[in-house]
Amino acid sequence: MAMYIVADECISCGDCVPECPTESIDEGKIVFEINAETCKECEGEHDSPKCVELCPIDNCILPLEAA
Ligand code: SF4
Ligand code: SF4
Repeated sequence: MAMYIVADECISCGDCVPECPTESIDEGKIVFEINAETCKECEGEHDSPKCVELCPIDNCILPLEAA
């Protein structure tokens, strides 16, 4: 499964980008976006999604399955 960025919450700070192990986060057209094809929720790299840990906004990055 993958994570996704909630468009209404993202402030486009870019903090989530540098440590994504699969380079799945792009600037996007309006707010930052996660490529659901390549995001593996940091499986095998981190205990939990690194982007969520780095994002300053609560509930901005959520599991796609909850969308
Ligand atoms: S969960 Fe991990 S792999 Fe997916 S976008 Fe966030 S940092 Fe990248
Ligand atoms: S860290 Fe959070 S607020 Fe910043 S660009 Fe990424 S998703 Fe958006």
